[in-house]
Amino acid sequence: MSTILIAEDEERISSFLQRGLTASGFTTEVAVSGDAALELALSGRFDLVILDIGLPGMDGFEVLRRLREENEELPVVILTARENVRDTVAGFEGGADDYITKPFRFQELLARVRVRLKSERNAAVKSIRVGDMRLDLRAKQVLVGSEAIDLSAREFAMAEAFFRHPGQVLSREQLLDLVWGYAFDPGSNIVDVYVGYLRKKLGKERIASVRGMGYRLEKGGRVAAA
Ligand code: CA
Repeated sequence: MSTILIAEDEERISSFLQRGLTASGFTTEVAVSGDAALELALSGRFDLVILDIGLPGMDGFEVLRRLREENEELPVVILTARENVRDTVAGFEGGADDYITKPFRFQELLARVRVRLKSERNAAVKSIRVGDMRLDLRAKQVLVGSEAIDLSAREFAMAEAFFRHPGQVLSREQLLDLVWGYAFDPGSNIVDVYVGYLRKKLGKERIASVRGMGYRLEKGGRVAAA
């Protein structure tokens, strides 16, 4: 499995990235300064770098410039504040492979990471099947049997989180991370509200409540409703 370097000095964001990437099967390491990031990026141990622009010491642009002097291949995904996008794009000069603006949803980032990892590219899936349901990642809808169910963007993001972890309990916190991102208030009941929307559309019995833990997409497809 791929190893990802997270160059980010804000602990809240680096731990959010680590949690999500680890849950998605990646190995990660964090660098909290530009100098550390460059040294690690040049170590040959990493398959991809997530690089924050605003790093102490050497900033992200400088890290990227120096990295490219010695390594032109290592994929780099830049993290940048939305208001600095113009500078960021200008600053690439072909050195970065992609960028994502803060705040971001984990799954947006994961999609970029997967595209940039050559070994992952072949494995990029177009749909995910769970029981008699299929999540179509391109049409952004769920098929239940042969019936296509239209979902809002947020509902689809939540459905994707469940389909990527079928039969596994996802806590409210995990769902918030995956669907809303780190910038969201963990005290809100938004997760429960959206689970309700999904149940209404997909069938109540397909998403089980696991008391005190969270929610689980039932793997077996349609289960007899209680
Ligand atoms: Ca920063």
